[in-house]
Amino acid sequence: MEKVTAIVLAAGNGSRMKSKIKKQYMTICGKPVIAHTLSAFERSGVDSIVLVTGSEEIEECRIIVERENITKVEKIIAGGKERVDSVYEGLKACNNASYVLIHDGARPIITEELIKKCMQEVKECKACVLGVPVTDTIKVADKDGNIESTPDRSTLWSIQTPQCFEYNLVKEAFDKMYNDGEVKVTDDAMVVEKYQNKKIKIVMGEYTNIKITTQSDVDIAEGFLKNK
Ligand code: C5P
Repeated sequence: MEKVTAIVLAAGNGSRMKSKIKKQYMTICGKPVIAHTLSAFERSGVDSIVLVTGSEEIEECRIIVERENITKVEKIIAGGKERVDSVYEGLKACNNASYVLIHDGARPIITEELIKKCMQEVKECKACVLGVPVTDTIKVADKDGNIESTPDRSTLWSIQTPQCFEYNLVKEAFDKMYNDGEVKVTDDAMVVEKYQNKKIKIVMGEYTNIKITTQSDVDIAEGFLKNK
């Protein structure tokens, strides 16, 4: 059997939120952000969930998982200093996974349908990420904040999560990166791009699959969830 494991990341400090409550535990539509995210994975076809959180929040997560009746959580583990370190902890904690779907816990609007689409694609192409075409014009700036160049918008995508890989492919890439000691990435695909000779497909996501980062995102996410 090909086992699909979701690695759900909730070990961030959310410093940009400027709130005492970490963004993944803020309440939207009556539930913590992380509960909405976990429920979507619970309803999808994944076989198991590895939940990565802060070392002091493991008990709080256990309570949420029980209360929300999330049955697919296989492990709740402590993450690392940066997001990439938390992903690596999640990868090391997977048990017999054939494929992994790495997802930001702070993206609670993820839908069952998108998760299913990711699972289907990753089984076919071994590496894929959700993304949407950018709608703004993107500029490259110099160090003084002046425009240096304007990339062709039709080639630009805003990348989201889940980022999905065959387990051995991504685990080997992360092992190589940590052995090299050059750990500086902003998403998981970058690790596979650098260390594996493998094309990574962009799967059309939804503009609503936002990552909660600031207070205004909380209000936007609440609006999206009410419409779901
Ligand atoms: O900080 P950022 O918005 O990039 O975080 C994206 C996701 O990664 C969030 O769900 C956050 O909880 C998680 N994260 C983590 N471990 C860290 C930093 C972030 O699991 N050290």
